This record gives sequence, C-alpha cells and structure tokens, in this order.
Amino acid sequence: MQITVWQTTTLGGALQRTEAQLVEPAADEATIEVLHCGLCHSDVSMIDNAWGVTSLPLVPGHEAVGRVVAVGEGVDPALVGQLRGLGWIAGSCRHCSWCLGGDANLCASLESTIVGRSGGFASHVSAHQDWLIPIPEGVSAADAGPLFCGGITVFAPLIDEEVSPTARVAVIGIGGLGHMALQFARAWGCEVTALTTTAAKAEEARGFGAHRVEMLADLPQQAGRYDLIINTSNHDLDWDAVVGALAPRGRLHQLGVPTSPIPLQAFPFIAGRRQFTGSPTSSPASLLKMVDFCARHGIAPKVEHLPMAEVNTAIERLRRGDVRYRFVLDGPA
Ligand SMILES: [Zn+2]
Ligand SMILES: [Zn+2]
Repeated sequence: MQITVWQTTTLGGALQRTEAQLVEPAADEATIEVLHCGLCHSDVSMIDNAWGVTSLPLVPGHEAVGRVVAVGEGVDPALVGQLRGLGWIAGSCRHCSWCLGGDANLCASLESTIVGRSGGFASHVSAHQDWLIPIPEGVSAADAGPLFCGGITVFAPLIDEEVSPTARVAVIGIGGLGHMALQFARAWGCEVTALTTTAAKAEEARGFGAHRVEMLADLPQQAGRYDLIINTSNHDLDWDAVVGALAPRGRLHQLGVPTSPIPLQAFPFIAGRRQFTGSPTSSPASLLKMVDFCARHGIAPKVEHLPMAEVNTAIERLRRGDVRYRFVLDGPA
C-alpha cells in the first residue's frame, strides 16, 4: 500500500510531499491513519538538527491523532478502528527497571517518534501499542494532538511530582506549553499565576485559568511566594529573581532549554530546601490520566488548524512565533 509522507532531505529544508511504501507494523506495534498532527517546536529543532540526532530523510510530526488501521504480532486486532494519540515517544523496552517501575519515559532504549523513525506528518504512522493512547469521549480528536507532547510535558510536573492542590504555582511563558500549564494547574486546584513579558497576553492568560498575571520583570517583588514555578521559556532569565520567588521547599521545574547554561547560586537551595528539577514528557500511565483529566475538566489546547499541505507555512510561522497557541495540521496528507 502507498502512503504519503512530508519529509525533508536537507537539514533546515522545507518538507516535500512524497509517496512511500507502507511498512507492516512490527511486533507489539500498531499503525494509525493520521487525521490530525500538531506542530511542536521540537519538530523545528529536529529539522535544523539542533540536537545532533537528526537522520535524513526526516518525517517530523509527533502530536498525531488517528485511527488504528493495522496491528502487528502480539497486538489485539480489536484495536483496529480505535482513535489513538501519539506523542514524542513511540516505544520503550518494557523490561528495564524504569519501564517496570512505571517510568517508561526514562527508559535508556527509548524510541522517539521522529528520531530514526518516520513521524506524523504523513498519512500513516506506527508506534508501540503502549504509546498509542486512547482518546476518551469528551476530548476533541481534532484539537487533541498537542496534548500528546506539549500537554503531557506540562502535566508531568503536576502529576509525577505530586503537587498539592494548595500549592501556589507560577507559569513562566504563555505560549504553546504555558497556555496548557495554566489550564492544568487551575483544574488541579492550585493558585495559578501567569508570569509573562507580554502585557497583551494578560486577558487570555486569565481565560486559561490564571488567578493572577504578573510581569516577569516584577518577580523581585514576589520573593518567597511560589511553591512551584514551571518555566516553559527558553530564554535567559534573571535566575536569582526566579529562585528568589520560590517559597521554602519550593521547586523550579525547567521545561524550556536556554542556549546558555543556567547559573544558579547554591545558598537559596541550601537555606530554603529549594529544588531545581526538569522532566521529559511522561509515562503511558500519566498520558492516560491526562486525557481523562482533560475530558473531566474540559481542558483543550487552543489551536489554529491548517491543511497538511500547508505544513511549511505553519513551520515558517512557528519560527517567527506567529501562532496562538499551537498549529494542528489536518489530513489527508
Ligand atoms: Zn525500558
Ligand atoms: Zn514536542
């Protein structure tokens, strides 16, 4: 069977529509026909080989939603026809202590959907069945794609770190990740503050659930306030002010990747028992809990839809930061 992929054969290059042969799903894998696929900043990083792990040709796309059309050996054929979502991770070994302990996203043999595999900007994409997450009723399949990478990335610090609903949470950066972080933290029960450099985003931030909106430059006036700061920004910040805004035992959770190393003073971490943490997406169990939580609380990414044929326009606009707040490319490819 012929499938369609949007691929680049040069680093930094535009994607081109190409026909390819459908490879039968491997053991424990299933293939979905892609209906929608979100565009994540990591797709751009992979196109540019920013992390040095890109192999060509590259088919990006790792926020895919579609229907199962084929299953490999060891997969229940009843999956065929089911609506499933796929994020950054397409497979893990299932045998190591991390996989067995419920932290499969920390597996050393992790397979990424777009590293050495063919991604979701295509008519079809395959993954291990554990990482193809059922989409419950109450979650819009058309808008759900960004939950599976961006969404789980900001849900992880709440669920995996067992944040208390009494916590005061601040989110730095109200973009593709941050706008979902505000919704999750609000529904979690926390007091939610949006920290932004863009005063124009204040009203929208409140719409996503922020109780308070503060300018990032005013952080020095909020010393000792927050139990958790989720930093989605990849810019260099006034790190002393960020750490200083943490309450005793507070935690700075880093999700954005600045180009320079982060300089941190040791003393505030010692004196206040503060912590600095980060996390890479999350486990299949947390993904399942996330979509359930979204259905219960009406949480959805705010997306702009474009046909898959306009994927290069979406990439160019994302490079310019011209998106509120996430693109979803709609099939057919
Ligand atoms: Zn493993
Ligand atoms: Zn991503």
